[in-house]
Amino acid sequence: MMNDTKPATRQQGMQRPARNAAGEMPIPVFYSPAMVAEVGSFSPSAGKPALVVASWQFLGLPLQFQAPRPLRAEQIGIAHDPDFVADVLGCRRTNGFGDKSPAVAAALPWTNGAMLSAAREALRNGLGAIAPCSGFHHAGYDHAGGFCTFNGLMVTAAALLAEGRASKVGILDCDEHWGNGTHDIIERLQLNEEVVHYSPCFEFGRPLKAEAFLARIPKLLDRFADCDLVLYQAGADPHIDDPLGGWLTTDQLYRRDRAVFDGLRRLGIPVAWNLAGGYQRDAAGSIRPVLDIHDNTMVAFVEAHGHAVIPASPFAEREAA
Ligand SMILES: [Zn+2]
Repeated sequence: MMNDTKPATRQQGMQRPARNAAGEMPIPVFYSPAMVAEVGSFSPSAGKPALVVASWQFLGLPLQFQAPRPLRAEQIGIAHDPDFVADVLGCRRTNGFGDKSPAVAAALPWTNGAMLSAAREALRNGLGAIAPCSGFHHAGYDHAGGFCTFNGLMVTAAALLAEGRASKVGILDCDEHWGNGTHDIIERLQLNEEVVHYSPCFEFGRPLKAEAFLARIPKLLDRFADCDLVLYQAGADPHIDDPLGGWLTTDQLYRRDRAVFDGLRRLGIPVAWNLAGGYQRDAAGSIRPVLDIHDNTMVAFVEAHGHAVIPASPFAEREAA
């Protein structure tokens, strides 16, 4: 069973991650089994955190798993209509999967909590942290949609702004699709000054423009130069073989991630990154092709920070304070 989930060999030309002298670089990953809900949807996103985490554990990297803090309804309600939040959590209104599943309702505070926990940790260590779940960018201020219920990206951005931990937050959304929900919440809450939201899907988004996009990434990141933090949604559905994609090869997706992490590090901006999209399946019906893409994102992150040591985190104490 475990061998079945071993990551496929990455394409030629990719190098193993660099390590520091001690071979240690703790990578903070905010994961709890409570983030996982099995819903039997076309989208694997609700069950994906566990599969991604299992796959990452085969990469031989020093991952440091920490439990996220689940969010309270009031925290989610900073970015969403509080009635909508209460109705979804109470299973009275349909979620992003189009049902009123108690399992999804139970997982929502944890997935959104993982995003916020990762963002706080990235701000703390100055480099980065990971939430192995979707950013749910189709969820708008008072509505779910497209497999997305609460918008973890905007819940996180709005919470950091409200807490005074950040005065400007960047959202780099590299999913195949436009984050219409993110846009809706920015407009409804009038956060155009405080949130910089960019997605390359319209400007590039075609195989012929792939190399131009990759070359342009350092310039594209300039728009985040005065952000305290960037939330990077490393979507897997721009893959050229994705049924809902795509325009980037596996190698190009890896180069995308590496360029984003290198560029943000050069700018000195911490990054909290998450997963999104990815609807490929192999002949056996597993999402192994999607897991390979998320494996590469993790490798790119480690390589970009290959010589940095993120200090052991007093996160739990800070959160409890
Ligand atoms: Zn997508």
